Amino acid sequence: VHGSPQLPRRTLALPVAVALSLLIALALSACGAAGGGRGGPLKVVATTTQLGDVVRAVAGNAAQVTQILRPDSDPHAYEPRPSDVVASAGARIVFESGNGLDRWMGKVLADAGGKPAVVTLADSNVDRVRGETSGPEASRYDPHWWHDPRNVEAAIPVIRDALTRANPRARATYAANAAAYLAQVRALDAGIARCFAAVPPARRKLVTDHDAFTYFARRYGITLVGAVIPSQTTEAEPSAGDVAQLVRTIRREHVAAVFPETSVNRKLAQAIARETGASATYALYGDTLGPKGSAGATYLTMERANADAMVRGFTGGRRGCALSG
Ligand SMILES: [Zn+2]
Repeated sequence: VHGSPQLPRRTLALPVAVALSLLIALALSACGAAGGGRGGPLKVVATTTQLGDVVRAVAGNAAQVTQILRPDSDPHAYEPRPSDVVASAGARIVFESGNGLDRWMGKVLADAGGKPAVVTLADSNVDRVRGETSGPEASRYDPHWWHDPRNVEAAIPVIRDALTRANPRARATYAANAAAYLAQVRALDAGIARCFAAVPPARRKLVTDHDAFTYFARRYGITLVGAVIPSQTTEAEPSAGDVAQLVRTIRREHVAAVFPETSVNRKLAQAIARETGASATYALYGDTLGPKGSAGATYLTMERANADAMVRGFTGGRRGCALSG
């Protein structure tokens, strides 16, 4: 009576123990492959959504990437949370966007302690637009550098090298990921250039919510006519005179479309569009990626979506910019 219930338990015990030890061994080897041999994967932090995406593309599964900003959130107005400090503790590398956009990360790092390598990717920019000398986010250069894909191309090897210094065992992984992603960004740039080449230059007149697209406009031969918030930061506010001036300019320049931004209140852009007869149908991703499943979920799809929206706006919906890959 006593022996019979124990028999099945004994026959189960051995396979369960073997399976468990196999699982533990697998988990440990996975950690070893990802990490620098200091117990656990290489931990890195990226501040903004677009930076998080680019760093993940280069790191692949050979780092654990914590991204501070959530999709659709405004980096200019961000107030760090206590959970950001917790998430940043123990990071070996912190990737910052720079030019004042994520200045708030300094406070997070001071509170988190530790001595991570801080890599400011704006420092690798190959094209720079002058910043604002006054206002809430005065900085030497305009912070929206990622909208020129050549600046992202220049940031990729900087990210690769920082990851490799922290985790040399994954050198080959980072090198392969960086090369593959670089090819994708180059193809993106060439594709967008082709799309705009098909739009007459006189129609490429851009009015956005704030001055986030100077790099993009410079790269693709687009004329910046104005912005609802005439500033490189969304923290500035337009005066009644600014708005009246913009309305006059839109009429004079026969601007076909005003482009609201996904992370900015659209009401004023829509009101200006109503008053001038321009469309406000096509929104742009200015400062942030969109949520999972949206057209702007990754850097590559976000830039494609912006190009498509602009081509449609400039041509009254007659053309688009359909890029794949
Ligand atoms: Zn901005």
